[in-house]
Amino acid sequence: MSLHPTVGLCATCIHAERIPHPRGGNDYWRCRKAEEDKTMLKYPRLPVLACPAHVTKEE
Ligand code: SF4
Repeated sequence: MSLHPTVGLCATCIHAERIPHPRGGNDYWRCRKAEEDKTMLKYPRLPVLACPAHVTKEE
């Protein structure tokens, strides 16, 4: 699996929600895991290169 160059692990994670930028800039990536796990960041700094909560989503 290749890592997304600007988003990293969030690009393939079931917990990630991609939110389009309202003015056409880079999309936001929200981590839904942060709602239940307060050690996680709601908007992680990208690219995420390592994450203990990452779960690969099915294609
Ligand atoms: S659990 Fe990790 S990899 Fe998954 S969306 Fe959150 S920060 Fe990204």
